[in-house]
This record gives sequence, C-alpha cells and structure tokens, in this order.
Amino acid sequence: TLETAKVKAALASKVAQKDKEHPPPPPSQVYEPPSSDRKDGAVYQVGMMLGKGGFAVCYEGQLPGSKKKHALKIVKSKMPSKMEQKFQTELQIHSKMRQQNIVQFLRAFSYDRCTYLVLELCPNGSLMDMVKRRKGLTEPEVRFYSVQIAGAIKYMHAKGIIHRDLKMGNIFLDKNMNAKIGDFGLAALLVTGRDMQTIRRTTLCGTPNYIAPEILEKGKKGHDHMVDIWSLGIIMFAMLTSKPPFQSSTTDEIYRRARNRDYEWPKTDKYISLEAKDIVATMLVEADQRPDPDVIVQHDFFLSGYVPLPGDITPQFRDCPPD
Ligand code: ADP
Repeated sequence: TLETAKVKAALASKVAQKDKEHPPPPPSQVYEPPSSDRKDGAVYQVGMMLGKGGFAVCYEGQLPGSKKKHALKIVKSKMPSKMEQKFQTELQIHSKMRQQNIVQFLRAFSYDRCTYLVLELCPNGSLMDMVKRRKGLTEPEVRFYSVQIAGAIKYMHAKGIIHRDLKMGNIFLDKNMNAKIGDFGLAALLVTGRDMQTIRRTTLCGTPNYIAPEILEKGKKGHDHMVDIWSLGIIMFAMLTSKPPFQSSTTDEIYRRARNRDYEWPKTDKYISLEAKDIVATMLVEADQRPDPDVIVQHDFFLSGYVPLPGDITPQFRDCPPD
C-alpha cells in the first residue's frame, strides 16, 4: 500500500542519512603519505571488515611483506563539527596511551578524504559479544578480565585521563583473548575541567546502562575519575550475569534505579559467590567511597579462587553460535 511504501521510504532515508556519516568502503590498497619516520610512505593491503561504529568503519590492514595485521579505523576527514571534536580528542588522548590492556595506537594519516588510524588488531570481537554468546562468564574469567581492566584504569588515571565511556562493547579481545580498551572518543583530561553537559548529551545517544549517577547531577566535584570505577562495577556485574544491573525499558528508569542502587542478583541456577557480589557492591556506591584499582585487585574475590594466566582463555566463538 501507499502507507507501507511511505514508511519504507522514510526508513530508507533514515538509514541513508546515518550512512552519510560513515566513509564508503576503502579501496583494496590504501596509500599512507610519506612522513618523517616513513620517508617513502606505505601501502596497506585492506582485508576483512571488522565492524562499524557511530561514525567509523574498521577494516583489517596489512603491509605487504609483513605477516602482522592491523586494524584500520577509518573516518571521513570532513565530519559535522561535534563529531570532528570527538574524533580529535580521541586521537590526541589515544595516541599518548601505551599499556598492555589498551588497544595500541600505531599511527594516523589522511588518504582520499578520510583519516586512517592504524591500531593494534583485536580479532576476537568485544567483551560484549563474548558475554552475550556465553550468557555470562565463569568467575575465573571475570577475575582475569577485571584485573586487566583495573590495570588499564590505573594507568589512565595516573596519566590524568578519565575514559568516561567504559563498557563491554568498547573492550576488545586480542588474539590471545586479552582485554584491550578501545574507543577514547569520550575520554577527557582531568585538568580540563568538567564538561558533564557534553557527556550527558552524548550518553543519551548511546547505552545509559554504564553511567554513574553523579554524571547526571550537577555540582559534585573532585571525584570525576571515579566514574570509571562505577563502570567497572557495572561491567563485572554484566560479566557475571550477562546483563547490566539497572537494565530497564526506559532511560529514566535506568537512571532512577542507578541513583537508588536498585539492583538484584538473578536467582538462577548459576552460582555467584558472595565475594563476587561483595566486590561489585563496593564499586556501586557514592563516588568518594569507591575503591581505587589497587584496592579492587586486593579484594577477597581475587584470593578466593583461580585467576587464569594470559593464554589460558581460548577463542570459542565457533563452538557457540549466537542465538
Ligand atoms: P566508533 O568510535 O565510531 O564508535 P569503534 O571504535 O567502536 O567506532 O569501532 C567500530 C567497530 O570496529 C567496533 O565495534 C569493532 O567491531 C571494530 N573495531 C574497532 N577497533 C578495533 C580493533 N582495534 N580491532 C578490531 N576491531 C576493531
């Protein structure tokens, strides 16, 4: 009918609108222009598509003659100014990070009206994919990832950086299944003061599940970096149960529940230890009461059972089709 045709057209135009922000697929070869540390430039062989984000597309990239594959994160050079700003922050902050659980930033260049970030390749998807497919992780796995994420948070905070957008979908898995924090689009330098209005606005476009309540309130100063500890608490709950604790059908309801710390551990067959429940509870409190990363990793949860070593966790996606 005419009505369904209209709806279809409207939907198609909405999709096209959204796609306008993304760059077109890259050519099979991408040329990095000459620079001070690479006088002859370079040619990247473009491989498989890895994923699409808010405004970036990601492909595998490889230099001929090298076995090592990288991730090429591609964005249009000319973007709406809000996104341009997000991307500049991301570039500046991410390029200064060097830690084993942060996606390594290798270089950036422009080619054919796009900006390319060359990043360490994480070929095993995100922590969110893994948790969804597995419907929750074992406690040894939760220890393994929590220690890694806490270590990365400690490093960022020591450098004066707050990530502000830690969530399972922003934590990628490298070839050995180690966690690597990626996407520094909302990160901020502590000294640049607060711009909670911006986070609030940006956050409302994404998932509100990981947002600390004080982000939504004005006038609470001095514990800004503790928003990352709140997010770690949410991530740990989600790794244990496969769902964030304040999950609700509306954003307002999620915020209300987060403010009231209104969450319950699911009453399912899966056993969750008292230590696991306690460590999460220590993080979902007022900002000035939250533990530092060093305190977190000394909690009984980490002493009460086995912590796998890097390499002990193997990719299992092929055995576990998504539902
Ligand atoms: P945006 O900043 O636009 O949200 P993301 O950083 O989330 O973009 O990247 C978009 C997608 O690309 C991710 O969801 C993921 O699937 C993939 N991706 C990003 N970085 C990497 C990486 N280093 N290795 C592998 N895949 C990646």
